[in-house]
Amino acid sequence: MRDATGYRKSFTPDAARRTNGGSDAACNAILEVDQLTKRFGAVVANECVSFDLAVDEIHALIGPNGAGKSTLVRQITGELRHDAGTIRFRGRDISHLGAADRARLGLARSFQVSSLIAGFSVLQNVMLAILGRTGGHYRVFGRAMTDRSLLEPAVACLERVGLADRRSLPASDLSHGERRKLEIAVALALEPEAFVLDEPMAGMGPEGTRDMTDFFFGLRKAAPILLIEHDMDVVFKLADRVSVLVGGRIIASGPAAEIRQDSKVRAAYLGDDTG
Ligand code: ADP
Ligand code: MG
Repeated sequence: MRDATGYRKSFTPDAARRTNGGSDAACNAILEVDQLTKRFGAVVANECVSFDLAVDEIHALIGPNGAGKSTLVRQITGELRHDAGTIRFRGRDISHLGAADRARLGLARSFQVSSLIAGFSVLQNVMLAILGRTGGHYRVFGRAMTDRSLLEPAVACLERVGLADRRSLPASDLSHGERRKLEIAVALALEPEAFVLDEPMAGMGPEGTRDMTDFFFGLRKAAPILLIEHDMDVVFKLADRVSVLVGGRIIASGPAAEIRQDSKVRAAYLGDDTG
């Protein structure tokens, strides 16, 4: 099974079942969004939005500027309360939980600037995340730095994102792309069950985007990814399924190859130059 770009992983039976349009995916969904609605005064940012993220997929959410993608992400991660609808994660209703509790359950959101501490080293940033997970205290961080039970998993996280040889540098010395990888390493330290990535390629040049695309392709082995992305090359290289949000509503959802050919989607969003 490969998409039109020829860039495709080996498919699992679950993924193969999804080729019928994605309707069976709910049976192995880790994240289920049901009829979510959010208004800002008179502005309807999301209206009755439903979709799910399966345990083994990259699901891309695309749509023009102002479509409501970031609002949806913020509702899923718990930064913003929805007006109506339900969010289920790992089989439980998390609608009433705050962002910290959702993160503890394994919902990893990336690219919050605040997740990195610039003055700390690359390694210290990851160790701090592990310390937080295991209930350690910031006060004793100096002592914790020599603790092998923190050091070894932290180095392992850095190895997974290819930053182990940069471990001693201050986080502020990293390049833009490296900083994003460090944010992922910090997220990995929390042993996530799912990633939610809102425009992770923002600010990257073509080379950085190619590198990060390969990187996210590998990251899916760690956990499924809900990917909000406007670069269509990236979307169609990475995504198993694509949902299209226009004016706060999902107008199409299904396997990437189908969405690419969907005339409604092309008219509303992709234009005729994608092919
Ligand atoms: P996208 O990420 O797809 O570009 P957004 O979710 O950022 O779209 O925005 C969807 C709509 O909601 C837009 O019309 C935007 O102006 C509006 N919106 C987003 N956040 C707020 C807010 N905090 N207050 C008022 N309106 C908002
Ligand atoms: Mg946005």
